[in-house]
Formats: sequence, structure tokens, C-alpha cells
Amino acid sequence: MAFDPDAVHAKYLAERDKRLVPGRTAIRDLAGDEHAAGYRADPFTPYTEREPIIDDADVVIVGGGIAGILAGAHLRKAGVERIRIIDEAGGVGGTWYWNRYPGVMCDVESYQYLPMLEELDYIPSRRYAFGEEIRLHLQAIADRFDLVPDALFHTGVTETVWDDDAGRWKVHTNRGDELSCRFYVLAVGILNLMKLPAISGMDDFTGRAFHTARWDYGFTGGRPGEALTDLGDKVIALIGTGASGLQCLPPLAEAAKHVYVFQRTPSAIGVRGNRPTDPSFAADLQPGWQKARMDNFQSIMLGRPVEADLTDDGWTHHYAAVQNPPRRKGMSAEEFMRTAEQLDFAIMEEHRQRIDGLVEKPEVAAALKPYYRYLCKRPCFHDEYFDAYNRDNVTLIDCPAGIERITQRGPVVGGHQYDVDGIIYGTGFEAEVTPLPRRIGHDIVGRNGVSLAEKWADGAASLYGMMSRGFPNMFVMPAPGQQSVVTVNYTQLAVFGAEFVAGTVELLGKQGVEVFDVSADAEADWIQQIVDTYVDPSGVMSACTPSRLNNEGDPGAIRPRDTNFGRGFGDFFAYRELLETWLAAGEFDGLDLA
Ligand code: NAP
Repeated sequence: MAFDPDAVHAKYLAERDKRLVPGRTAIRDLAGDEHAAGYRADPFTPYTEREPIIDDADVVIVGGGIAGILAGAHLRKAGVERIRIIDEAGGVGGTWYWNRYPGVMCDVESYQYLPMLEELDYIPSRRYAFGEEIRLHLQAIADRFDLVPDALFHTGVTETVWDDDAGRWKVHTNRGDELSCRFYVLAVGILNLMKLPAISGMDDFTGRAFHTARWDYGFTGGRPGEALTDLGDKVIALIGTGASGLQCLPPLAEAAKHVYVFQRTPSAIGVRGNRPTDPSFAADLQPGWQKARMDNFQSIMLGRPVEADLTDDGWTHHYAAVQNPPRRKGMSAEEFMRTAEQLDFAIMEEHRQRIDGLVEKPEVAAALKPYYRYLCKRPCFHDEYFDAYNRDNVTLIDCPAGIERITQRGPVVGGHQYDVDGIIYGTGFEAEVTPLPRRIGHDIVGRNGVSLAEKWADGAASLYGMMSRGFPNMFVMPAPGQQSVVTVNYTQLAVFGAEFVAGTVELLGKQGVEVFDVSADAEADWIQQIVDTYVDPSGVMSACTPSRLNNEGDPGAIRPRDTNFGRGFGDFFAYRELLETWLAAGEFDGLDLA
């Protein structure tokens, strides 16, 4: 494949520069801004008044998504009785509770993404599951482990304070609840903060506006998985062409009078290849198959040899290849970088050529082509998205520098006013690496009156990314940028985190330990390990188009402490082995016990 590195560099940098404009990252403060706060309201479950609850629990878990439900399920299996899950949503599911937009689907294979398939004796209906199937499965896990009756939904924690005398956390909520508990588990998720851009004039818009994470079926008609019935006379502006925006375009295009798609940066969109689960799939499965399948996928992601690629999709082909370029013996650093770049170019070129084969109008096809290295943005996968642009009722508005302003009639780009009835913001979420104290959204005050925000002001401070000195009996579910590791299949990390939390709680009980805290030395050592293995990504990432993955064009600002165990992406297997060995030893090395 013809590859002129200088020409490619120049094109990629020119495309990056079109997007590095002032105000690009401006977002609304959804907590403090009264008008913007309306975007957060729950359209799915009516809010009901209730009396405040004054109670004591063994464990309080903040977050009822995958991580929180798995933590609850494993704690239940370990014999913990009084578990309270608290969530601002009206039910369980976390991201799958909120994201019910038409076409919502998980891009990680369902047989690995839906947890506890063996325990629940469930086989997903399709290779990639739609959101509703995932939400109902998480609900089924919560029901199986009896986590719902004591859960507090539509409830936000306002402050949690450690009481040293009682050896318990005191949890306060916005419903007036006062809960004490022995263990406090933070399972708030990694993409839990909805992002609404701050675009001049947006509050003047007189039509209906909402975010994809709060889909208003009252406005569009229909229900998840069904056609949108009320859009036949409506013109819609869809802002954002990331994983969410592109998934909801085909159903919107089917239903609306017209859709204007406002694209700032095109996504790299690979083949999806979804299909119903083969009826024979379950027949050959042996006990332990799901963990083995997750490990097979993760091995490929880390560039380790496997006998067979069980997933066989864009992640294992393209993502893994770019993540682990071939390194031959005797290769110089320059040769290695050049080979890696050529491989990357070939994969991106394949994505660009795919568009030529699917989009009829050449000028639209050209505007949909992504020009940056593959890992600059999270890759997407879809088989119907591009075809939507062949319809007469879909118009692509390419606006690399963003939307100029929004008037009462709709968005303005290039001085042109687009008159619309509704604006749908598919503008995503604050980055995975958003510091934990911000993602938690409430103050946690530990020993000596020190808050987690104060303690983590200069970066994460933990043992194993899951416990932090001064915050006794508290666990944080592992997540990227938080001194644990990254997994493309987030479920795999959540499963392991839940097993670790439950295993530790069970062992503490068996040994009669009431209170644990992280020792100063152990925490300092762990932080040092993370910092020492940090690889500054600025070289490659600063040439990237701005995105959440490169800190919106400022990768040098990523703090080494806010990274992962085992360099870069992290080493899941080394991490798991380390923690399993720690637990099996039963000595709580690195903890102070009382
Ligand atoms: P996203 O990937 O962050 O995409 C947000 C989109 O909004 C981008 O196209 C962005 O443009 C655009 N945008 C943001 N601010 C804008 C502004 N002021 N003006 C114009 N456009 C603006 O968000 P997402 O699509 O919701 O996905 C978030 C993450 O959720 C994904 O990366 C993935 O991890 C997860 N997810 C997964 C699935 C799946 O499994 N299939 C589905 C949905 C979400 P720029 O690119 O220029 O910033």
C-alpha cells in the first residue's frame, strides 16, 4: 500500500489543527447550572417520595451498574447479609439504565460483556447485545442475589464521613438518609458524567433538546428496540458522531422527516458483523468457559499468543494489531516505529476505503473519512451507519471547529441557520480518566478530617488502585487511570474487582479484623511502581486529533500517578495474579489491622 510518511503526517496534523480551536472542551456544569440540570432528569422511572432511612448496613455500595451489582453479588456469595446499593438512577443497570437511545448496543462481544452468564445459565441472543438485553440481564443478577429490595434508587450520596470510634462510615444522602456501614464500596463507573457542550445560545432553543443518555421517547415516540413513531413531521439535529451518535442515526433516519448530523470529528468505524447466536453455541461450552473466553480476548489485546482467536472481530484484528506492532529481533527503535506507523496507516486506509464502498455521494464519503492514527480515538463498529447517508432525509454537516451557536430555531454552522424541532446531543461523557473525586460527586471524609479530594489532589494515591490510606474499610472498584489496569472489556475488570472486594471482606471476617487501613509504606511503594513504569504518551498522542484519550490534545498534562499498573494500557494478568496471590496468602500484607 502506497505510504508516504511525510504526506500522511502533514494530512493528520492539518486535520488535528482544524479541531484544536479555543472553547472546544467547554462543557456545562450539570450540577451547578439550573437550566442544564434539567438535562439530567430521569425520563424512565417516576420519582416517588419516601421517608428518610436511618439504618446500619454491613456494606454500602455507591453505584448500581455492572461494578456495583457484581460487588453486591460476590459479597452475597461470601455471606454478607445487609447490603445497600445507592444510585441516582431509578433502578439498576448504571450506564445501561441511562443509555436507552434507539440502536444502543455494546461493542464488546456479548458472551464476554454480560457477566455471570454461567451462574444465571443465560446465553445472549446476539453476538453483540442491544442495551435492553444487557439492562435486563443486570436486573436479573440483582434479583438473583436479592440486591434490589434494600437498594435506594433516585438517591444521591451527599457526604460520607469515617467515624473512628464506631469503626464505621456514616453516609448522608439527598433524601435525608443516614446510614452507617462497616464497608464502603465505590462503584460509580467510568463514564458516569454526562457531557453537555457549552454552545453559545443553546438555552434559547425553543424545541426539545436532550442527551442520548436521557432519550425522550415521549418526544420521539416508540420504545427501545421499536420504531420511533412520532418523528414523521419533525426535523432533528444530531450532534456528535461517536459510538452513541452513530448508533442512533439509522433508527432516527428511518423515522424523522429530516436529520442533520453535526460531525466535528469522523469516527473510525469498522465492520460490526452482528448476528443471532448460533443455536449450537451453548452445546460445546464447558464450565469456566466465560472466564476462559474473557482471558482469550484479553491475551490478544495484550499481544500474547493464543491457540485460537475466539472473538475474531475488529478488536482482536485491528485494535490488538495496532496496540502490539510486530517487533522483530534486532530491529532498531526507528524501524519499529516505522513499521508500527505503516501498519496503522494500512488499517486506517482500510476504514477510509470502506466508506467509499458504502456512501454513494463522493463529497459526503470524503467528509466521513477519519484522518488520524487508529488509537487516537476509541474505535467504533457499525454496519448500517454509512448507509443512512444515502437517504434523502439525512444531511451531514461537517464542522471540524464545532457549532458556532444555537438560536431559538436550531444550530448555526458556517453562518447557515438549521431550523429544527429537536436537538439530540450525542456528545458523550467526561473522560474515563476524570479524577475519581469528581466522578464520585460527593465528599468522602476519612481519618483526621481529610477528604478524598484533598488526598488525591495531586493524583491517585492507593494500594492496588482499590484502597487508599486514611479511608479505612473503603474499596474503590478498579478502573482506568486509577492505579489499576485497563481492559477493553470493562466487565472483566469489574468481575475481578468484585471477587477481590468480596474475598477480602470474607477473609477479614474470618480473621476477626474489624478495621483495615492501608499502611503508609505500602501505599508509597504502589504509587512509586505506577510512576516508575509510566510511559509519557506525548510523542505519538500529541500528533493525535484531540479526544478524551489524549486529554483533548494535551497528553502531557496526564499525571503519572493517574495511570495504570504495568505500563501504558496496564497488564491485567500480572495485576490479577498479584492480587490473587496477596489474597491467598491471607496475611493482608500492606494493611494496618485493628
Ligand atoms: P464520544 O465518543 O465522546 O463522542 C462524542 C461526540 O460528540 C464526538 O463526535 C464529539 O466530537 C462530539 N462533540 C462533543 N462536543 C461537541 C461540540 N461542542 N460540538 C460538536 N460536536 C461535539 O461519546 P459517545 O459516543 O457517547 O461514547 C462515549 C463512550 O461510551 C465510548 O467511547 C464508549 O467507551 C462508550 N460507548 C460504547 C458503546 C458501544 O459499546 N457501542 C456505545 C456508546 C458508548 P469530537 O470527536 O470532535 O470530540
